[in-house]
Amino acid sequence: MLFSLPALVLDKVERYEIDLLVTLLTPGGKIRTLAKGAQKSKRRFLNLLEPLTYLKVHLRKPQKGKTLILEGADLLYLPESPRREIAKFYFFSYLTEVLEFTSPEAFKRRDFEWLVEFIKELEEISNIKEAKTFFELKWLQICGLYPQVFECVSCGREPKKIYYFSIPSGGLMCFSCKDETSFPLNLNQIELLRKIVRIKKLKEGETLMQGQSAVERSFLARLIEEFFLFHLDWEPRSLRILKEGL
Ligand SMILES: [Zn+2]
Repeated sequence: MLFSLPALVLDKVERYEIDLLVTLLTPGGKIRTLAKGAQKSKRRFLNLLEPLTYLKVHLRKPQKGKTLILEGADLLYLPESPRREIAKFYFFSYLTEVLEFTSPEAFKRRDFEWLVEFIKELEEISNIKEAKTFFELKWLQICGLYPQVFECVSCGREPKKIYYFSIPSGGLMCFSCKDETSFPLNLNQIELLRKIVRIKKLKEGETLMQGQSAVERSFLARLIEEFFLFHLDWEPRSLRILKEGL
């Protein structure tokens, strides 16, 4: 039985010198598929199996085994900028690695749709640092690991005037609950965090950061990256090289 799905390409590896094992992210989550003979007849998937290419894939359930057979694919969207700009290329490598290794079991259609829009939006933007911060925060949300920025994670009350933040505890803390893992945040920082968690599109984020000092921007970027790495409990290999280029 043949069926079709929208999908983003995550990875491809050679198998038996003839076939390719292709990992895809679909609206239902990550799947592994087998493209039989794909290495022999290169034209069938010409340029289609590059990272984060958006496809409509045609799949077949195998008679034996569980790996779905990738029969063919139609191109829906091909990100061009990673082929021209080296920084974008590294950012795409980072995105692909994060998606491949940390996609949650309970991945939802709306998360998939957000991701496709995000990849399209990336073609237009030049500030990869901000795109990275924005992506990390949204991905934490998708994984159910979002920082609490409205109430104290410990007592549930909304702090007044004095704000602390703890990465291991998962977010905001009040003066009475602060512990050795927490550090102070100023009102501007906490308000920025609260605004960023509400935005859906990268463009809104760009205008949000306008007028913020370089110190505040890099403080927030570092805070979110540390939170991301701590709560995903994993260090992407592509992160170091991405940061060297930024
Ligand atoms: Zn508290």
